[in-house]
Order: sequence, then structure tokens, then C-alpha cells
Amino acid sequence: MEQKKVLIIEDEKSISDIIKFNLVKEGFSVETAYDGQEGLDKALSVEPDLILLDVMLPILDGFAVCKKVRETSAVPILMLTAKEEEVDKVLGLELGADDYITKPFGMRELVARIKANIRRTELMSSMQDAPSNVKEFGNLAIDMNRYEVRKDEKPLELTLREFELLKYLAERENKVFSREQLLEEVWGYEYYGDIRTVDVTVRRLREKLEDDSSEPKYIMTKRGIGYYFRRP
Ligand code: CA
Repeated sequence: MEQKKVLIIEDEKSISDIIKFNLVKEGFSVETAYDGQEGLDKALSVEPDLILLDVMLPILDGFAVCKKVRETSAVPILMLTAKEEEVDKVLGLELGADDYITKPFGMRELVARIKANIRRTELMSSMQDAPSNVKEFGNLAIDMNRYEVRKDEKPLELTLREFELLKYLAERENKVFSREQLLEEVWGYEYYGDIRTVDVTVRRLREKLEDDSSEPKYIMTKRGIGYYFRRP
């Protein structure tokens, strides 16, 4: 495997150093930045394969950096959060972060998450060259191979996670899945993740897919159980 580059944007040098040490040991090349502005500059200049982004940073905070990077780049961003309020903000805002991990975290978990996020991005770019495999559901057309979705012929801008959730449910029409099952199957977490991530992703998907997201016709809620996909 070619060497992957991780940019660590973290102002606490002791944390940055230990992450760097562990990533280098795992075969990554590592760049570091110690404030938000330096981080933003490096994000755009060194072309990392993944950015580890702390929330509380001098000059520009992690939220601002994330938004700025997303204006020009689809690089996977893994946010480092310290407080529950920060998690809520990462989940609730349209920041474009791909994932988050809460401090304090174990190095093995961090490395696993970094690898999973990089793999996901690689998978996505390889999918774009794949032969198309379009399935139609009402006025929705989902290309299961190419990660493309059209509604009434118009392409929808879905994130990779949103697409994977939609694909998973649409390939298993009418079958109800709990949020825990979806987290495990779609996000692939081997550890206990945050099931709110599933709710937030469903909400965003509905906003993009449905005519009226308060009265969904595709992604349905089975009260007290979970979610399923229905052909309208
Ligand atoms: Ca910090």
C-alpha cells in the first residue's frame, strides 16, 4: 500500500506528538499544525489523505476549519471532540465532517477509525469507474455501483455515508433495521458507536430525497424499532 498522509491539527503538543508517534509506527506519513489557520493552510497545500481535526484551536476553531476545507476538498475529516456539546455540534451542523472521536480515546481505536475512513474514500473513487447498476424506486434512480442518485432525473448530492445508508436500506426493501444494526452494518463500527449518528444521517437523507421530509415516502420510521426503505 502506498504511504498515506495524515494531517494532525491539534494545539496540544503532547497529544499531537503521541498521535504522530503511533501513526508513523503504523506506516503513515504525518504533517502537523498547531492552530486553525496553520491547519487550514496545510490542509490545502500538503494534500493529506485524511485530516484529524481538534475542535478547540487557537485563531480558527475546528468547526471553522472544517467548513473552509469542505469548500474545496472532499478529504475525509475526523474531528477530535472533548465535550458532549461539541459532539452535538458536530452531529447537528452541516459541517461536512466524516466522523468524530471523543477524547480521551485509545490509540488502537483512533488508528482503526483513520484506516476505515481512508478505505471508504478509496472505495468511493474506485466505484466511479465501475459499470453502472441502476435500480429504480418510483422517481428515484440509485446507481448501486457508482454511488449516484437521481430524483426525477436530477442528480442528488449525497455524502458517502448518506449513500451507503440509502443503498443498504434500498437493497433490503421493507425490512426494518434497528439503529444499532445500521450503525454496525453501514458504519462498520466494531465498537459501540453513537446511535444518534444514524438519526442525523436519516434526517439529512430525507431532506435530500423526500418532497416533504416531515412526511417521508422512501425512508420510513418504524416507531420504537428503527428504519426501513419503502418503494413509494
Ligand atoms: Ca485543543
